[in-house]
Amino acid sequence: IYILGIETSCDETAASIIKNGHEIVSNVVASQIESQKRFGGVVPEIASRHHVEQITLVIEEAMEAANLTPSDLNAVAVTEGPGLVGALLIGINAAKAFAFANGLPIIGVHHIAGHIYANQLMQPMVFPLLALIVSGGHTELVVMKEHGSFELIGETRDDAAGEAYDKVARVLGLPYPGGPQIDKLALASDDAVEFPRAWLEPESYDFSFSGLKSAVINYKHNLEQKGGTVIPEHVAAGFQQSVVEVLTTKTVRAAQQYGVKQVIAAGGVAANKGLRTSLDAAFEKEGVPFYVPPISLCTDNAAMIAAAGTQMYLAGIRGNMGMNGRPGMPLTSWNANNTEIVE
Ligand code: ATP
Ligand code: MG
Ligand code: FE
Repeated sequence: IYILGIETSCDETAASIIKNGHEIVSNVVASQIESQKRFGGVVPEIASRHHVEQITLVIEEAMEAANLTPSDLNAVAVTEGPGLVGALLIGINAAKAFAFANGLPIIGVHHIAGHIYANQLMQPMVFPLLALIVSGGHTELVVMKEHGSFELIGETRDDAAGEAYDKVARVLGLPYPGGPQIDKLALASDDAVEFPRAWLEPESYDFSFSGLKSAVINYKHNLEQKGGTVIPEHVAAGFQQSVVEVLTTKTVRAAQQYGVKQVIAAGGVAANKGLRTSLDAAFEKEGVPFYVPPISLCTDNAAMIAAAGTQMYLAGIRGNMGMNGRPGMPLTSWNANNTEIVE
């Protein structure tokens, strides 16, 4: 089975072809990071314009690199939501055009399901499974009992982990995206500022990162008022320690409570070296297999969309030309709108 995946939910224009749900045949990502850097973040209008310029080229490149023709494909999988509506629509319209021109079915994929299924490109999923999703817009703990079943057991009440990284990086004067920059400084640091941990209620699997962000801002403000200067490495290390400790502790507790057989991390912040090391060590101790995709498959890409799309294809899920961008698409089941099930 060959599935073409298309992803345009944020600031990456991406296309990929996956064979049998796990084999990467081609994987093309055109990033807009360089142009978004000037604005310190993603500007929706600019993101859309980039997608329009890139999408046809990126799909062509993915097809060429795979050395396949459209008749070799079984379906086109595209990110239906959540994300920036204008950005989503460009991928969806490109997918519709490609599918229509080549007589292929179209499948609408949830972006976060995609992040989770990036792991399928590395090793098969074993259920029940716990997924820690940490990305630019999401921080969630999800239990999966089978393919396409997503039980949300905890989520952020304010900022997403990636959002917190990007905001703190901005406070420290680091360029966008801030996550990788803070990660680098934190790892090189010989000391760390002590920042609070947001545990919330003892039983809760929810997260909160806005208090930590404020603590960093206050720390800088107070120090500078007293004539001191902030040492970015020490702030980065303290911030990262707080984030990593809370994420690791709650993920371990959830894995124990739900008795899962596998734990996976997904999303852009799963690229974080401090987090990867901490989760690795924690689950080694727990004796539960823990996996995280290589960094290039943690951040936005279309291989993960094609991987999830393949599972949907196998489940008989087919979308239609009524597909629309769904900025607030929920993740409960495969959850595609305008779909039918074929035998
Ligand atoms: P979502 O997936 O929630 O819709 P998104 O697609 O914008 O949001 P991703 O592309 O999955 O998010 O991840 C981008 C985020 O990951 C950014 O906030 C970025 O700072 C963060 N990030 C990337 N690398 C690292 C790293 N090494 N350490 C921490 N954060 C990182
Ligand atoms: Mg991105
Ligand atoms: Fe993402």
